[in-house]
Formats: sequence, structure tokens, C-alpha cells
Amino acid sequence: MDGVFDDEVEQTVTIDEYLKNVEAEELNADLVLGGDEGNECTYNMGYMKRQAIFSCLSCTPDGNAGVCTACSLSCHDGHEIVELWTKRNFRCDCGNSKFGEFVCKLFPKKDVENAENSYNHNFKGLYCSCDRPYPDPDVEAQEEMIQCIMCEDWFHDEHLGLESSNEIPRDEEGEPLYEDFICKTCSTVCSFLTLYPKTIQAAGGKGDATYSNAKDKDVLEDVPTACGSGKLENDICANNSSEKDNATAGKASAVGESSWKNSGSNDSNQCTKDTNLHTTCVLGVDVEVTSPVSEGKPLFLSKNWRDILCRCEKCLDMYNQKHIRYLLDREDTIVEYEKMAKQKREEKLQQQEGAELSFFNKLGHIEKVEILNGIADFKDEFRSFLVCP
Ligand SMILES: [Zn+2]
Ligand SMILES: [Zn+2]
Ligand SMILES: [Zn+2]
Ligand SMILES: [Zn+2]
Ligand SMILES: [Zn+2]
Ligand SMILES: [Zn+2]
Repeated sequence: MDGVFDDEVEQTVTIDEYLKNVEAEELNADLVLGGDEGNECTYNMGYMKRQAIFSCLSCTPDGNAGVCTACSLSCHDGHEIVELWTKRNFRCDCGNSKFGEFVCKLFPKKDVENAENSYNHNFKGLYCSCDRPYPDPDVEAQEEMIQCIMCEDWFHDEHLGLESSNEIPRDEEGEPLYEDFICKTCSTVCSFLTLYPKTIQAAGGKGDATYSNAKDKDVLEDVPTACGSGKLENDICANNSSEKDNATAGKASAVGESSWKNSGSNDSNQCTKDTNLHTTCVLGVDVEVTSPVSEGKPLFLSKNWRDILCRCEKCLDMYNQKHIRYLLDREDTIVEYEKMAKQKREEKLQQQEGAELSFFNKLGHIEKVEILNGIADFKDEFRSFLVCP
């Protein structure tokens, strides 16, 4: 988007290219909004697993409330809105007790408060451990931030608590080689993750020796599922003495790594194929007793890492106690959310098929883009662009 209107570029961009650009932005907007058309307040749908949430600094400057897409458009048009991307387990607050006299135009009969909602400094328009706004007016080049899947706050590379941002698993183009990120504060809550094979964490930081091995592969392909595998037991025997041996960080040895303690290997015959409910703990240890004290290191998780999380009774108890049961829920992930959004988008586009989209039809969707980018004068620029050849 930036650059399209730069004087130099402006002359060379064709309307076709421009519309493609608008379409890409529109898709992007649809992905965030989860295919929500923004017509109805989502309050009646209760605490939604995930939805786009906005905070209105004009109405609730303390950042103690959030509103749905429709409310941000209908009730808070022209207000100072912060776009919070998506949040889990949230119910629209628009017009409840936090808004004083203000009444929601779409669904005014709300409870005074949504007790299950949680709010962080994002609702005040601040992000990261450095507590800065985004975009940051004091910074020239805005840096993309990384979202922690647990607290859902966003972080600058240099504030993740890493020695160097080279430790972030990314490919040459800077695309992430990890599926999920857990910030250093939240990592103390899930120190049990260190009991899983090291491959649950994504490899590929520029300073990582396994980088070239890992980058083209699904790094979890050899990780045993609930039932473990013969290979695992063999490897454990073979690697019995390899405590803290990181020298051979190849894939085979990583699977059998000593941190993968499987004291219950005799039980492996009783394993069921049902990975949704484990009878035997995948970890084979008493998680509460054995969970190491975490040093609070940020975690980058590999693709499909949630699938190998143990679902035995003890582990389920633990997740519940820690209020992190959502980690087992596929629908909690951004990937699933975007998949659903794409589906809704395709259905929508199919409905419109035949009735060729007119130019002004497209302008309707641009409203969404406008919110996402905070480009208030988007339409004006767009019109003047069309007027000048
Ligand atoms: Zn609403
Ligand atoms: Zn407002
Ligand atoms: Zn409203
Ligand atoms: Zn920061
Ligand atoms: Zn976090
Ligand atoms: Zn377990």
C-alpha cells in the first residue's frame, strides 16, 4: 500500500495493478475480520473463540473495553479507534457500563459487564514490553511485530529477550519458519513444553546450526504421537548417555533426545490410536512435579506442535488449571480462523458471480481496508488517482 501513491510510482501504476492491490488489501481485511460482514453486533454469539476486536479511545480511553467489527463501524464511526487484530474468548462490550451514557446502536441490551473478557495494554493502543503505540510516531521505519499466542500482546524483535534477532527462526526472505510464538513471560506458564522433544520448537534462526536441515522440511514429521514409536524407545536406549549432548543436533537424535522421558514405555502396547484422549501420558512423567523451572525464554513452536500435546487426564487437568486448554483447540489458531475467513469469502464471491463487480461495489469493501490501515483519506487519494491519468 505504502508507495502506491508516492509521486514516482503513481505514474507507472495501472488501474489493473491498482485494483489487484486493492483486492489483496481486501483479502487481508477479510482474513482479519474472519469473513464477518460487519453488519451485526456479535454480542449474541457470546464469547467467540476468535474475532476481530477494536478499542475506542474516544469512548473508553482507559482501554478497559473492546467492540466488535460492526460496532466499530456503526457505533464508533469517526471516533479514535485502535484495531486489535483478533482476540480469543471475547464478547462485544459496546454500550455496556464501561461506556457511560453511550448506547450501542446495534444491540443496546447488553449485560453491564462481560466478566470473562480480559484486557491488556493493547486496548490503550500500546504494545510490547516497551509499551509503545503502533505505528510508533517516534520511529521512522515501522517494524512488524510478533504476536504471542498466549497473552496475544505484540512484540518488537529486539524486545523478545533474545541475544540477537538472528535467533528468530526465519528464512532468507524473513518469512517465519515457526508456527506460533510464546513470549518470555508466558513461557514460564508452559515450561512443560521443554519436556517434549526439542523438535517441538522451530529451528532455523540464522545462528542455528540445524538451519539448513530444517528449513525445507516439516520439522515435526518424525515426532512420535501419543503412542510413541518403536523408534523412540530404541533411540532412548541408544541415547541414554547423551544427557545435554547437543553436539549432534541432527533430526534423528533430536527425536530421541534425553528430554523426551518415557518411563512408561512398557505401557506402549496399550496405546490407542485415538490421539484426542490419551490414556497414558505422552510425557510419562508427573508433569507438575517434573516441569522444570522455566528461565523465561521466548519459544518458537514448529508446525503442528499443538497436535503432539498430551491429552491424558493429568495433562488436561494441568491445562485447565493454567487456563490454557485452548492450546488443544484447533479453532483457536489464527490459521484455522483465516481458513474459515477464506471459505466465507469464497462463498461471498460465488454469490456475486454473474453480477460482475462494479467499481463502486468495490468501494464498499474499501471501508474495511480503511479501518485496518487507518488511512482516513484513502478514498480521496483513490479518486484523485483516477482523475489524474
Ligand atoms: Zn458489537
Ligand atoms: Zn467510541
Ligand atoms: Zn455497538
Ligand atoms: Zn518493544
Ligand atoms: Zn505472552
Ligand atoms: Zn499427559
